[in-house]
Amino acid sequence: MLEHDVIIVGGGLAGCRAALEIAHTDANLSIALIAKTHPIRSHSVAAQGGMAATLNNVDTEDSWEAHAFDTVKGSDYLADQDAVEILVREAPDVVIELEHMGVLFSRLPDGRIAQRAFGGHAHRRTCYAADKTGHAILHELVNNLRRNGVHIYDEWYVTELILEDTQAKGVVMYNIQTGKIEVVCAKAVMFATGGYGRAYNTTSNDYASTGDGLAMSALAGVPLEDMEFVQFHPTGLYPVGVLISEAVRGEGAYLINSEGSRFMANYAPSRMELAPRDITSRAIVREISAGRGINPDGSAGGPFVYLDLRHMGQEKIMSRVPFAWEEAHRLVGIDAVYQPMPVRPTIHYSMGGIPVTTDGQVRSSLSGLIDGFFAAGEAACVSVHGANRLGSNSLLECVVYGRRTGAIIAQYLQNRKLPTVDEQRYVTATQQQIQSLLDRSGTIRIDKLRREFQDCMTNYCGVFRTEKLMREGLESLQQLQQQYQDIYLDDKGKLWNTEVIEALELRNLMIVGQLILTSACHRQESRGAHCREDYPDRDDTNFLKHTLAYYSPAGIQVNYLPVQITMFQPQLRNY
Ligand SMILES: Cc1cc2nc3c(=O)[nH]c(=O)nc-3n(C[C@H](O)[C@H](O)[C@H](O)COP(=O)(O)OP(=O)(O)OC[C@H]3O[C@@H](n4cnc5c(N)ncnc54)[C@H](O)[C@@H]3O)c2cc1C
Repeated sequence: MLEHDVIIVGGGLAGCRAALEIAHTDANLSIALIAKTHPIRSHSVAAQGGMAATLNNVDTEDSWEAHAFDTVKGSDYLADQDAVEILVREAPDVVIELEHMGVLFSRLPDGRIAQRAFGGHAHRRTCYAADKTGHAILHELVNNLRRNGVHIYDEWYVTELILEDTQAKGVVMYNIQTGKIEVVCAKAVMFATGGYGRAYNTTSNDYASTGDGLAMSALAGVPLEDMEFVQFHPTGLYPVGVLISEAVRGEGAYLINSEGSRFMANYAPSRMELAPRDITSRAIVREISAGRGINPDGSAGGPFVYLDLRHMGQEKIMSRVPFAWEEAHRLVGIDAVYQPMPVRPTIHYSMGGIPVTTDGQVRSSLSGLIDGFFAAGEAACVSVHGANRLGSNSLLECVVYGRRTGAIIAQYLQNRKLPTVDEQRYVTATQQQIQSLLDRSGTIRIDKLRREFQDCMTNYCGVFRTEKLMREGLESLQQLQQQYQDIYLDDKGKLWNTEVIEALELRNLMIVGQLILTSACHRQESRGAHCREDYPDRDDTNFLKHTLAYYSPAGIQVNYLPVQITMFQPQLRNY
């Protein structure tokens, strides 16, 4: 059995930042970081637009209080305001710290870090490295990991969280290259496993965003918080769904319908294209439904609208958002200097997740905590984003709460003993689980079932929702879950058997989907990204609270957690 003081699952920004903090606090600790990809291929590397912090380099009127207010209003008042305060107050410090580690942020002519406008932020406060911000930060963090002696297990797929008697004791993992199964025992376990964009058929997320950490937690009896809040990013490139960063609108691009009009004037007149994502995504879907979308031949009535950069000019496009230009050119053959880009909403971000305190400790219930279990980043819900995240607040969350959780873990580990784990029991159970997948003589291909599941989530739990639609979705999902018993794998071998991984990921995605649909059915109001056509208004009397959904194979139980309101009372939210 492998043993470490702490295991971090996830090599994105949150996991790497936590690992570094632990190493800096106590160089004698044995830290393991496990990732199913190489850490540098974590989805964080794809983050483009930037990271918010009130450095006041461009906008001297900005303040942490203003950042907090924008975040809470953006969240439709569901964010926990104590957690938001920590996020925005620590923001300038974490940016400077990253810079000192070697991250190359874009600059103003006088050499200070540049800052740009972003949706829902009333001031120009987003720091960036052109439109490759995640790449710039993640590469530096991973380099620093190696220098600090963090043990990296890359291309190991974690299959199970070992949680016994409300204590996390380790994980079971499967080596993708060799098929070997190992139990890793530790005094503390942290999940930083990212989001679940692959639960939908069109997403900006990478192939690894399959909600594994969420499903493993749910299977171990941990509740999941606010799963109904799924973020649609307004500008996915049509038809591929790949993200065109909000930075493009931050730098001045327009959204145009088939009549050539900037339709955001009808939805968010004061913020126009820089309204928050929930509002902008709904506006685009409404324009398309009203017949003002555009077809590939340019005629009206089609499935997308235009993102128009042409007035920005070649020099600005190529210096500020070169990657967006390159993506459109490479993937759909559009030269954005001369042609508008076809866009429509795409699944982007998971506001909900594993419920944690502001110290990153995982909750077992309304008041209980799980000993030795921590989470941060997109997989966690500390709730700084509430019902709708503002762009450039997620990288910030990963770094602020990654650092904070790392510091707490380093303290927690002092004077702790390694727990005892029955290694053989876990190895045997995992071997049997994988063997039963290999032995299946069913008729359904994993890829087909996954596509049907993704269509189910997209059709029944999309931008607009109703009770009837979601009930149909749950029924359809139940049938698909039954069909899972009937899948078959072509590859029966041990080496690089990626079909085994796909099968395990699909099981996880389906659990996540069931939690999303069930939580969404229970929330009978419209708030942030959760828009119910049968309950069009926000209902603070009955639903100003967080959902906690407990999974079991027999069904899902829903409970609620109060919202922390310390600074701003809920108000009408318009822009
Ligand atoms: C295209 C795109 C652009 C974005 N741009 C921005 C932006 O400009 N600003 C912003 O603030 N936010 C942005 N976001 C959101 C932000 O990038 C993510 O929310 C954030 O990077 C998530 O980081 P993370 O550390 O939580 O997880 P990730 O970076 O997703 O990493 C997850 C890690 O977990 C590992 N893992 C998962 N499951 C397992 C398993 N079973 N076993 C082993 N390892 C596992 C993966 O291998 C990976 O290493 C963007 C997101 C996308 C998709």
